[in-house]
Amino acid sequence: MSKTNSKLTKQLTQVEFDRMFPNSEACQRYLLARRWPTGVSCPRCGNDKVYALKSRPFHWICKKHETVYRFSLTVGTIFENSNVPLLRWFKVLYLMLTSKKGVSALQIHRTMKANTPLMAGSYKTAWYICHRLRAGLADPEFTQLMGIVEIDETYIGGSETNKHIGKRRHAPGGLHKMTVIGAISRKGNVVCQLVERADTRTIDEFVRRVVDKRVDLVAHDDHGGYRKLHESGYTHGAVAHMRGEYVRGNLHTNSIEGFWSLLKRGVIGTYHNVSRKYLPLYLNEFVFRFNNRKNEDIFSAAIASY
Ligand SMILES: [Zn+2]
Repeated sequence: MSKTNSKLTKQLTQVEFDRMFPNSEACQRYLLARRWPTGVSCPRCGNDKVYALKSRPFHWICKKHETVYRFSLTVGTIFENSNVPLLRWFKVLYLMLTSKKGVSALQIHRTMKANTPLMAGSYKTAWYICHRLRAGLADPEFTQLMGIVEIDETYIGGSETNKHIGKRRHAPGGLHKMTVIGAISRKGNVVCQLVERADTRTIDEFVRRVVDKRVDLVAHDDHGGYRKLHESGYTHGAVAHMRGEYVRGNLHTNSIEGFWSLLKRGVIGTYHNVSRKYLPLYLNEFVFRFNNRKNEDIFSAAIASY
């Protein structure tokens, strides 16, 4: 086991998970407690004087509307309008979050077929659930990064552009290099975004969106796109990677590079090739897992965010 593995925060084990969630009703109670920790309120008007329907568990009515508004536990969440039992969603999410390098829908489907064949469903459903779960992991309460922040860009995919030339046309945007820019607060959170290209304007917009102006320092390499950051009011500095310089005082980009290698090992090792269309979903997944790396209850954090 590598050093980083041994420092991993302890997560729910499969046995603990199965004990906590023996059926979908247990999942419903769990979701209820995370969605409305202080009591159910109407998703439309916020009114907390709602009435539970005796005939249908986990359904309520709110009378503060012209016609009585009836709602369920899953309304407005990613689990809404789905025929998939909540227990299957939970199992897939559990497998996805507890795997450090990511896990493909195919692996998830196989694991579920081996462990709980009745809950496994089809591969197609597993694939669909995985993508919905990833899409839902976007952080709605995003706060700008503070402290010392590292910025960097990386390129993903495209390793097969020389092979399978005939195939390329059938994979629009699939096999070309994709540019991702990212920012990380040292010992804190990471943010990243798929972009067309890492030019000065794109980088500037990204930094202004994700990095607080009162940051101590923005560290980056000698990529030309960063040269105008001071005009946007940031204290920043570069290490001259092109000259073989990697650390100068506080200046280095080791943290963001650590995240890139985690991301690439995951994307390439687990998913082999990711298309431009789906890359943002994988970024969501890796960012969420990374930002919750010290959270002993990452599962609960994910459920609460849906
Ligand atoms: Zn209402």
